[in-house]
Amino acid sequence: MDEASRGQGGVVDAHAHAASHRFIPRSFVDGGIRNIIAMHEALGLPAHRERLVDRAMERLEDHDCDELVRQMDESGIEWTVLLLPDFTYCLRDCELTIAEMFELHRRILERHAGRFHVMAGVDPRWGRDALALFERGLKEYGFRGLKLYPPCGYRADDRCLYPFYELCAEWNVPVLLHMGPTASNLSFEYARPGFVDEPARLFPAVNFILAHAATAYVDECAMLCAFRPNVYADVSGFQEASRNPGGQGLTHLLRFAPAHKLLFGTDWPVFREDARQVEHLELFLGMAREVLAGPSLKLILRENAARLFLPGRASRPSLART
Ligand SMILES: [Zn+2]
Repeated sequence: MDEASRGQGGVVDAHAHAASHRFIPRSFVDGGIRNIIAMHEALGLPAHRERLVDRAMERLEDHDCDELVRQMDESGIEWTVLLLPDFTYCLRDCELTIAEMFELHRRILERHAGRFHVMAGVDPRWGRDALALFERGLKEYGFRGLKLYPPCGYRADDRCLYPFYELCAEWNVPVLLHMGPTASNLSFEYARPGFVDEPARLFPAVNFILAHAATAYVDECAMLCAFRPNVYADVSGFQEASRNPGGQGLTHLLRFAPAHKLLFGTDWPVFREDARQVEHLELFLGMAREVLAGPSLKLILRENAARLFLPGRASRPSLART
């Protein structure tokens, strides 16, 4: 892509995951594949659920993110935000504990210095251990934010999350929340943008990022971005929206949410089988250029993420800002 659209420096992918079965349990993959099975059955096609899940799990072998870095290089993606949600409380077939996953993400940061930031989550229902582990991630591992997965069974405005938000304010790091549907064995109802409104009001020093805003609750996400100074949204999953005629979800979001609040994201490895990262970026640019001019694109492709994540802003606690 050209320098004018990108701004100074490369693109930032603000939403991706390590493509590894060490962090993504089989039951989660199975929950997603059930929709494919339902479609196959409706069309009278053979439906081999176990085989499909096996194949998907076999592809989750990029434990150290080496393949992701290759594709980032190919695409001009300078750095990526790796998100680690904690499924270990609600899906009990995870290979590792969440503490072990934290450690492996620390090693990914070391292996590919400068190419990743990590936002990690701990299910708040693990109690005091959860908060201590999250704090260790910020203090000792250099993680840069909290990743929450409400479909696991909690809402963004649950009081048990407030101590986490206080830590995020102290460390000046953002909170990213999955919004909308996900694997069919998890609850969709908890993952509504409206539940973010109250914590965003109560924690003005914390930036909240609504994930997948181009795919579900698009109007509500755009409204919160426009009227809550500390609410942002990422476009990850726009590939799904692009399967609909004209990529309506993405186009709608780009029209109605302010450009200084939106973040480019690919949700790697979810759409890995459809295209390489470079093609996902081109797909996004093709749709975005129909709606936005160059300066707005620069904000979305890099500058908004740089404001939220770059060193200097989040390197140490800053109680004065809370
Ligand atoms: Zn994701």
